[in-house]
Amino acid sequence: MGKLDTSFIRRLVGENNVLDDPADLYIYGSDSSVHEALPWLVVRPQTVEQIQDLLRHANEKGIPIIPRGSGSGMCGQSVPIKGGIILDMKAMNRILEVNVKDGYCRCEPGVVDDDLNLALKPHGFFYPPTPASSRIATIGGEIANNASGVRSVKYGAAQDSVLGLKVVLANGDLVSFGATTRVSATGYPMEKLLVGSEGTLAVIVEATLRFVPIPKFRCLGVANFNDLDDAGNAISEIMASGCQPSMLELMDHVAITAVNKAMDLGLPDVAAILLFEADGMVKEAVDYEIDKAKIICEKHHGAGVELSYKEKDRTRIFSGRKKLFPALSKYKEFLSSTSLADDMAVPFSRMAQTARKIHEVADKHGIVMTAYGHCGAGCMHTKILMDTTKKEQWRAAEKAVAEIYEYVHAVGGTTSAEHGIGLSKAPAFKIEKQSTLALMREVKRAFDPNNIMNPGKLMDAPDNWVSATRLRYSTTE
Ligand SMILES: Cc1cc2nc3c(=O)[nH]c(=O)nc-3n(C[C@H](O)[C@H](O)[C@H](O)COP(=O)(O)OP(=O)(O)OC[C@H]3O[C@@H](n4cnc5c(N)ncnc54)[C@H](O)[C@@H]3O)c2cc1C
Repeated sequence: MGKLDTSFIRRLVGENNVLDDPADLYIYGSDSSVHEALPWLVVRPQTVEQIQDLLRHANEKGIPIIPRGSGSGMCGQSVPIKGGIILDMKAMNRILEVNVKDGYCRCEPGVVDDDLNLALKPHGFFYPPTPASSRIATIGGEIANNASGVRSVKYGAAQDSVLGLKVVLANGDLVSFGATTRVSATGYPMEKLLVGSEGTLAVIVEATLRFVPIPKFRCLGVANFNDLDDAGNAISEIMASGCQPSMLELMDHVAITAVNKAMDLGLPDVAAILLFEADGMVKEAVDYEIDKAKIICEKHHGAGVELSYKEKDRTRIFSGRKKLFPALSKYKEFLSSTSLADDMAVPFSRMAQTARKIHEVADKHGIVMTAYGHCGAGCMHTKILMDTTKKEQWRAAEKAVAEIYEYVHAVGGTTSAEHGIGLSKAPAFKIEKQSTLALMREVKRAFDPNNIMNPGKLMDAPDNWVSATRLRYSTTE
């Protein structure tokens, strides 16, 4: 590996856009995961040409390059496990075009999701992946992670919105993938290959995205279940009925308890809550969808059903789910919420069983786990609530994570629904994708023969996430 020529890099991007202060390196050494590892340098490029020159230099010297958006990834995707340069993409945040006539927009990767949606709103459109982190997550980070959100059940994930990409390859070449049109049957869809690549193939420098009309009507419903299985049965029947909800969210008892403690919302003390929404341009069509979901919930003993079109009521009904993530750390004193087996996807019919399995495994290992998520898309989120100061709790979490993923794979599920792989989920990912790992390594080699792009991730990540990096927690025996 060659020497890092910081004077070349400073001349390239300007003194103010290179950070090497230990405090900055510390900040950029972690994301929203449990992992941390220090980079050698942070570089904030302003132009595509600067990225091309920097990558040529890094490729020649074998210096790792880790693209980074806002660092909200939950699995250590942007943690520089092999050191190297963090490429902070947030300064490249221009919306280049909103083309309503042709139904696409173009933007730089550092644009924050909410900002893109603010620009689309006056035209009557929105960009649908919208993760819960949309206030901070960048378009580049969302594409590289294949992010999605509460409305993915109807509107899909980032992969469904990407029409084209411009990327800088490890050797500095700038290439264009995809098209601006809705359909394209021109060989390998390379733009889709970059979706979910977690910075391991190339740097995304421009995205062409489709958008969809903002619906005129939204109706949100809520139903309470005393039995998790009833909620699970309602989920599969709604999805099998041809009903098209725009949201179908599950909250389990742990999640309900945490929200009540944190926010005093007075949510009912039940085994599960389902939130369901329908949206559309015609009220009668929305009525039809929401009534169908309501009838199915009631058939499966969903009680206290409430429906509302009014924004104020919808905000109230949804407030517990919206604040769930921070609320989880309030569940019990000394227990912190950690993103470990943080998400997975399972078939609709296995949703309740998986939630029960998660509770069972948590009890067995003396930790607390919650199950919630965008169940209409098959997405199950979990968080491990544990005393992060205790080494034995980390060992318990490690066993629990492995057992949960073994179960998820056995019922036909997959390791990540939307949060990606990074480091924390790499062991489970490698087990699930065993038969394709060699091919994935070949693809990586074709893009990045010197292995400079976010090395040590996905198929090349360590098999043990606890010892993969320093953890962002101090522990005692
Ligand atoms: C409170 C909270 C709620 C969340 N809710 C959701 C949710 O509902 N749905 C969801 O999907 N996720 C969610 N997340 C996870 C996270 O916000 C998403 O994964 C998001 O897409 C990450 O965007 P980012 O800009 O922070 O990317 P980062 O974390 O900075 O990077 C993520 C990955 O993308 C790569 N990358 C970034 N920019 C580029 C680029 N220009 N070119 C190539 N690779 C690049 C990085 O190398 C890294 O591998 C949540 C996170 C938090 C903290």
